Amino acid sequence: MLFTDTINQCAEVAGMLWQRGWAERNGGNLVVNITADVDDNIRRLPPLAAPVSIGATLEAIAGQYFYCKATSCRMRDLARKPMDNGVIIRIAPTGDAYEIIACKPLQPTSELPSHLAIHNYLAANRPEMKASLHTHPTELVALSHVEELCSTERMNETLWAMIPETRLFCPKGLGFLPYAEPGSQTLADGTLEQLHDHDAVMWEKHGIIAVGTDMMDAFDTIDILNKAAQIRCAIPHF
Ligand SMILES: [Zn+2]
Repeated sequence: MLFTDTINQCAEVAGMLWQRGWAERNGGNLVVNITADVDDNIRRLPPLAAPVSIGATLEAIAGQYFYCKATSCRMRDLARKPMDNGVIIRIAPTGDAYEIIACKPLQPTSELPSHLAIHNYLAANRPEMKASLHTHPTELVALSHVEELCSTERMNETLWAMIPETRLFCPKGLGFLPYAEPGSQTLADGTLEQLHDHDAVMWEKHGIIAVGTDMMDAFDTIDILNKAAQIRCAIPHF
């Protein structure tokens, strides 16, 4: 896929997140590794601003390229104008900083260091996985308010039991993380740990993050899990 197609797919997914009510205001993040598809024109682009420290050395993605949502931008705006609401960044050859190379010197998402840590893990261990997507699916968040469901085992049992497709398409289920402050190291470390065994991680009373071969694949995983959650929430006397 051309990198422009990849970015257009991010825009399509951003629009669906908004339509589903999963991306209020500037909620949610998306980051996709476009390294395999960038052309020489992109490689030659000079930085638009000074390098920014990542706060860690991410060797597996050193020199790689990513498209990511910009901070404070809305998914519904990214859907219409992906290059006005997202940026292309290049990771330094040393793996410890990034620079923005297109198209505007917007700040990337404040969650970028956690997303990049995930992409560093994926590049080293699951290189077919190129995309990470964080959003606030209503029914999945609702289930994370039910104390008896708040474990990886109980949440997956519940979701898998709703319709057979859930287990078919999400055989690894999701990992469950107890509430942690958004943007915290606890949340970032816990997410990375859960991604060893899962393609999606539920953040209690907050939302979900999924990884996929591309952004649509990550979206599908969340969509399937939330469909199961919707059915569970529709059962009377829940
Ligand atoms: Zn969030």
